[in-house]
Amino acid sequence: MGKLPIVAIVGRPNVGKSALFNRLVRQRVAIVHDQPGVTRDRLSADCEIDSVRFTLVDTGGIGSAIDASFDEQVRAIDRLLARELRSTKKPIIVVANKIDHPNQTDHETEFTELGFAEVVPVSAAHGRGMTELAERIAAHLPDEASDSAPPSPILKLAIVGRPNVGKSSLINAILQHRQTIVSDIAGTTRDAIDIPYQRDGKQFILIDTAGIRSRGKQSSSVEVFSVMRSQKSIERADVCALVIDAVDGVTAQDKKIAGLIQENEKPCLVVVNKLDLVKPSTRARDFFDAILGQIRSNLFFLDYAPIDVLSAHTGENLDRLFQSIERIEKHAQRTLGTGQLNRLLQQALEAHPPPARGNRRLKIMYATQIDFKQADSIHPPTFLLFVNDPQTLTDDYRRYLEGKIREQLGYYGLPILFRLRSRH
Ligand code: GDP
Repeated sequence: MGKLPIVAIVGRPNVGKSALFNRLVRQRVAIVHDQPGVTRDRLSADCEIDSVRFTLVDTGGIGSAIDASFDEQVRAIDRLLARELRSTKKPIIVVANKIDHPNQTDHETEFTELGFAEVVPVSAAHGRGMTELAERIAAHLPDEASDSAPPSPILKLAIVGRPNVGKSSLINAILQHRQTIVSDIAGTTRDAIDIPYQRDGKQFILIDTAGIRSRGKQSSSVEVFSVMRSQKSIERADVCALVIDAVDGVTAQDKKIAGLIQENEKPCLVVVNKLDLVKPSTRARDFFDAILGQIRSNLFFLDYAPIDVLSAHTGENLDRLFQSIERIEKHAQRTLGTGQLNRLLQQALEAHPPPARGNRRLKIMYATQIDFKQADSIHPPTFLLFVNDPQTLTDDYRRYLEGKIREQLGYYGLPILFRLRSRH
């Protein structure tokens, strides 16, 4: 048997690591005792769960010098550990042990505070949650059958826009070099057609919202339905490409679809199509500046979205669309450490104090970024803020904080999300 992947149980003393270890290896090899620090040395055993094999390691007492009766110390050590672990960039599952009753969920905040997306409640003593935990572990382990690196996640790209902006033409232009189109179509819903597509080894699903056409002649009701239809495609997309007609500029209907993208908090880029119809033969630079300015000011609420001007007909700048997507994907991987984030926010608060709302003013006690690195799709950067009162954050101030984070990390094409929790 080759070297097995290693799963380490990490945590401060007395959280039940040994009990968990025993449960998972299904043998009583470690000594479980109520005194912290009983497990002196690393203990390891090979396990098999649902035919996935790994070596389980109990790391013993990290931080045994702390006094568990001091809540603050305990929290601090958990946070330090969380930070340390996160910096390893390894898959992390937060196991909330001693959840002995199914309705004991009031600690949820405490765990999300550590900034991990994945929390599994278990009771090692009662064996509760073990199947769930085993599944989560298995999901992170490499498949033994294939020792190659896991394929990068499939990116679902929704091509949205009002009728006649050139969505079908754009999809045809993208698919141009493929031999078969029709036979590859994976799923058809009433709202869109999903088209698998591969480019430079990267897998995509193009969600073609233009694919299903109304048989009647184009009318204003077709326009209205097209907005409604977009909703579902936007919801399930990783990235939305909002297609706009360069000749018409931004119309009210375009704004409605843009609004849906914003409401759904989706990564987005704006594609200005039909460049061939508007591009002047001279002074192209001025022309681009003008067109970008016009689109920016009309779609100011999608200010995070990059704009690519291209032609589906001539194929000009089509590559840029995929360069932008790649960049969005890269930026989605960027994170701020908790220390860095808290410093950045405190500095922002000092440089430009929040306005008073009634007799209260925003205070940020603590902030942390939710870790989506292990997730199988693009997630917008999401920050959990513990504040005195969520009502005190005004829209303007939210945008200001967003801007400060963007200065630091860019987050090209990504909305920056804040989730507020009241201190109480
Ligand atoms: P959809 O309803 O958004 O899917 O739009 P279509 O792809 O059906 O395009 C609408 C019209 O615009 C058609 O007549 C296309 O030939 C035309 N069109 C689409 N893209 C371009 C382009 O890049 N340049 C020009 N000149 N015409 C385009």
